[in-house]
Amino acid sequence: MNIVQLRKLSYDEVAKCNKCGFCLPSCPTYLVMKEEAYSPRGRNAITRFAIENKLKLSEDTERSIFSCLGCGACTAVCLSSVKTKDIIFQNRECEVDEGFYPKIIDRLVRTLEGSRNISDDDNEDRAEWLELIKDFPEDAFEKEHAEILFFVGCVASFFPMVQRIPANMAKILQNAGVDFTILGGDEWCCGFPLIGAGMPEKLEQMKEHNLKKVADVGAKTVVFTCPSCYHTWKHFYKTDVRLMHASQLIAELIKDKRLTLKKEVNLTATYHDPCDLGRNSGVFEEPREVVKAVPGLNFVELPQNRMLSVCCGGGGNVEMTDPDLTAQVAQMKLDSIKDVGAQMVVTACQQCVRTMQTRAKRTKSDLVVKDLTDLVVEAME
Ligand code: SF4
Ligand code: SF4
Repeated sequence: MNIVQLRKLSYDEVAKCNKCGFCLPSCPTYLVMKEEAYSPRGRNAITRFAIENKLKLSEDTERSIFSCLGCGACTAVCLSSVKTKDIIFQNRECEVDEGFYPKIIDRLVRTLEGSRNISDDDNEDRAEWLELIKDFPEDAFEKEHAEILFFVGCVASFFPMVQRIPANMAKILQNAGVDFTILGGDEWCCGFPLIGAGMPEKLEQMKEHNLKKVADVGAKTVVFTCPSCYHTWKHFYKTDVRLMHASQLIAELIKDKRLTLKKEVNLTATYHDPCDLGRNSGVFEEPREVVKAVPGLNFVELPQNRMLSVCCGGGGNVEMTDPDLTAQVAQMKLDSIKDVGAQMVVTACQQCVRTMQTRAKRTKSDLVVKDLTDLVVEAME
């Protein structure tokens, strides 16, 4: 996208920003960096000045625009409802057009085009996590036809720290007698990282492939443990197939008494709303219903929850381009969790689990970090 296209697309929206600064205390990157260029207001100003030809895009604007986590907290508190995250991501497309973007993104694009996953692994190894399941069925959960397709996503498929999440989900679905399948090596990255990279047009090929695979298996529903895959399908795939996050399906299975949680978990726990599941997709209550269905658990809310939830630091490709910023945002998150006296934080996203668990480990914190599926399997068995 060039400046002329950016002007057409974003000028009316960015002009709504009255520079009040009300969003500043909600922006995690501003709270860490304490510089205007890392705030929503500063990023809006950069976009507006670029559109008005008062500022040239440069390495400085690149640093500001590509350090946004895409969390959307700024819009949630803005009295003018300025869609700052959308403006920033549109600006990213323009920065890419002018050659100002973190060059590590080129490697990401090559990897996605070559391997169809974010980690450059052999895509045929997507179901490596099956090894975590004792006596998995002969068909390895890959059926020709099924009611539900479980779309696993790249991070949980290939990152050992969170491979337990798809294994958990498969156990839960098996336990509830759900007719489901996975795509194995036929699953391609959903394309989410390309949106944050300022190259959303490259998502098309992945979208077409994945939609064809859903049609091939005849699934009526696609379920995701990854909020970013869920968000991408919901907002970019434009399909009539029912899309559900795992938390929604699990809550439904509990209500229908197809899944019973019996084992007590005697801990004080809180829930972290993943940005792409909560604020960016509107799923707030079902994960809480599931957490509260676990016997023995003492549930406490974080003061900034639901629409006001603070990002874990793992969004917007920032972990790839500025891991130190991610670590500092994650630390803020862990501090807020400790402040409410929680021994355990439950979330519903493999990326949030990775970010918070890595930080907890590095700082030798005793905080237990769990995915919702970890908790369900623990209470189920
Ligand atoms: S984005 Fe909204 S809250 Fe932030 S400075 Fe602009 S008008 Fe104020
Ligand atoms: S989306 Fe999040 S990180 Fe980006 S400007 Fe808004 S509050 Fe800050």
